[in-house]
Amino acid sequence: MQIAIFSDIHGNLAAFEAVIDHAGSFDQVWCPGDVVGYGPDPNECVERLRELPHLCVAGNHDWASIGKLDTHNFNPDAAWAAHWTKETLRPQNRECLLRLSKKLVQDDFTIVHGSPRHPIWEYISNPLIAAPNFAHFDTKFCLVGHTHVPVIFQETGPGMAEILPFQLDVPLPLDDKRLIINPGGVGQPRDGIPDASYAVLDTEERTITYHRVPYPIRETQAKMMKVGFPVRLIVRLSYGI
Ligand code: ZN
Repeated sequence: MQIAIFSDIHGNLAAFEAVIDHAGSFDQVWCPGDVVGYGPDPNECVERLRELPHLCVAGNHDWASIGKLDTHNFNPDAAWAAHWTKETLRPQNRECLLRLSKKLVQDDFTIVHGSPRHPIWEYISNPLIAAPNFAHFDTKFCLVGHTHVPVIFQETGPGMAEILPFQLDVPLPLDDKRLIINPGGVGQPRDGIPDASYAVLDTEERTITYHRVPYPIRETQAKMMKVGFPVRLIVRLSYGI
């Protein structure tokens, strides 16, 4: 099976369509959360995901957009976007987000948004944070999102982890090492590269491959301007920050 891993779509339909096109034929989508928030197309992204065979967990922005999470920890721009998304979501799409669970286990993989230890909130941004998280899932591999930065952490011993290079377009063999894998963000990349980021898992070959895809950023930005989104949220898409 070919599984497309699309994380942090963030209501950016142009980016979402670009990664779907680039992935070509795949059997399933796994989404480690944040389908909505920040972007101008929350309904369209939820509906597009529903058209595909998929598994999806809840992210902090999904919960904020349905009133399940207080936005007092959000910066003002993120809180504005969460409020706008909440007002904009159609009832059936809100229902979909309400049904998302915090954690899913499928085959060798645990899927969460932030971390297996704190699925909604924790950012696994370095090996020191990754290391203790290996004790919080039972499968061999864990898929996360939330940081919008593509990265792989490998367990090197009890309570120890290191970063593995995630090389663009090069299949990484999944062997006996336990890994925490972040495919990067589709709708709001934050590693200084504005192209949409995603990964493909090949369950027969037992490899995972990371890809970047340019998309019409200005299309998304024009929609955001029309609605009156905070300027910082519009501009950051051009820089991948
Ligand atoms: Zn996110």
